Amino acid sequence: MPGEPQGDCLFCKIVEGHIPATIIRETDTTVAFRDINPQAPTHVLVIPKAHYETAAVLAAAAPELAADVLRETQAVADDEKLESYRTVFNTGSGAGQTVWHAHAHVIGGRGLHWPPG
Ligand code: C5P
Repeated sequence: MPGEPQGDCLFCKIVEGHIPATIIRETDTTVAFRDINPQAPTHVLVIPKAHYETAAVLAAAAPELAADVLRETQAVADDEKLESYRTVFNTGSGAGQTVWHAHAHVIGGRGLHWPPG
């Protein structure tokens, strides 16, 4: 069921504290932690605590929660003192999604090229 914890989900386990992560922000509905394989000086993931497989499913099922995630991406950028940064939602394996719990990558602290690879 969308929104319900999934026993085999890595990010649900981070939310529950069963897998360690470097958490830098937490709200009632979201967690932000440093990516274990950073692609830039700042590389933080913002996730909803509730489990939704993709950003699209999250936005359709729980738009207020999707807005919480977006607000937190800006809060991370403020905390990290980033004037410019990139917010990425990989959706689908062809786009590089490897964890099926919606998450925003907040990437910054270096020059970022466009278009992305
Ligand atoms: O968009 P994608 O699904 O590929 O992003 C998943 C991200 O989760 C990766 O950047 C990976 O490095 C990160 N990750 C993490 N901590 C884990 C497992 C994966 O930060 N324990």
